[in-house]
Amino acid sequence: MNPSNSPPDRPADNAFDQGVAWLDGHFVPLSEARISVFDHGFTRSDATYDVAHVYRRRVFRLDRHIARFMRSLKSLRFEIPFDSDGLRALLLEAVRQTALDDAWIMMICTRGRPPFGSRDIRLCRNNLIVCVVPFIWLATPAQREAGLTATVSTLVRIPPHSVDPRVKNFHWLDFVRSIFEAQERGSDLAFLCGEDGRVTEGAGFNVFMVKGGEVLTPADGVLEGITRASVLDICADEGVPARVAVFDAAALRAADEIFVTTTSGGIVPVVRLDDRPIGDGRPGPVTRKLNEIYWRRHESAPWSEPIDI
Ligand code: PLP
Repeated sequence: MNPSNSPPDRPADNAFDQGVAWLDGHFVPLSEARISVFDHGFTRSDATYDVAHVYRRRVFRLDRHIARFMRSLKSLRFEIPFDSDGLRALLLEAVRQTALDDAWIMMICTRGRPPFGSRDIRLCRNNLIVCVVPFIWLATPAQREAGLTATVSTLVRIPPHSVDPRVKNFHWLDFVRSIFEAQERGSDLAFLCGEDGRVTEGAGFNVFMVKGGEVLTPADGVLEGITRASVLDICADEGVPARVAVFDAAALRAADEIFVTTTSGGIVPVVRLDDRPIGDGRPGPVTRKLNEIYWRRHESAPWSEPIDI
């Protein structure tokens, strides 16, 4: 169900040397990409970012990632010295500086730091940082084939009216605690609910369930993932009933199939939730079909384009 010649689970030890970073107007080796410890991106998580990916030397839905990043920048009042076309050219050039076939393209904007002694964030010079790093997978090939296990976290997702989850951010402490909780329960992943009990998302992925042949994903209170949008697009193209919806953990537990979606690995089946099998405890037919189509769409336009032209 997954590409047979998937790269290894983890990049080689020298992986860092294979990537490249761009900051302050220059390309540098990743090991030389540094920001000040006084940058508010570090001290206050005052930053936004996006991650697109390259698979077999083709970039996937880059314009979607750039558009989301641009919206995030605007929402947080960040300024960068590029428009969408300029950023796109920079990102592609960064990938061309590497020989990586499968990679993450990270774009990060931090607030920077105000002049020493000032607390006026309007005086900060925002920092745009681009990093191309070897692809980092959410799950190993074996896990992607057999499916992951998950738990419904006791932690409440940071409310969307406090930190807008549609603006991709590093406010990860609810996720970090949920990761420890999942590990303590022997699960691979944790799903977080909102204050009202609605299922939201987890640390770096969106959640889907299949019930009675219909594909459902939380309507709001989540990052509008590019992989999530891709699944909804594929469903529309293939005539698979799908919609965004509001559902709680009880509905999720009663699902026929569950999967998560992320740039770091696509569509990954979840076969157990809180120690109970989902369906027959194996990746279901809808998940498998969507996953196959998702990876096929990496082979050609319009969703994917070659890096080297
Ligand atoms: N939700 C959160 C909180 C994420 O951080 C991510 C990706 O990092 C996703 C969902 C999945 O988004 P995408 O499919 O664009 O990678």
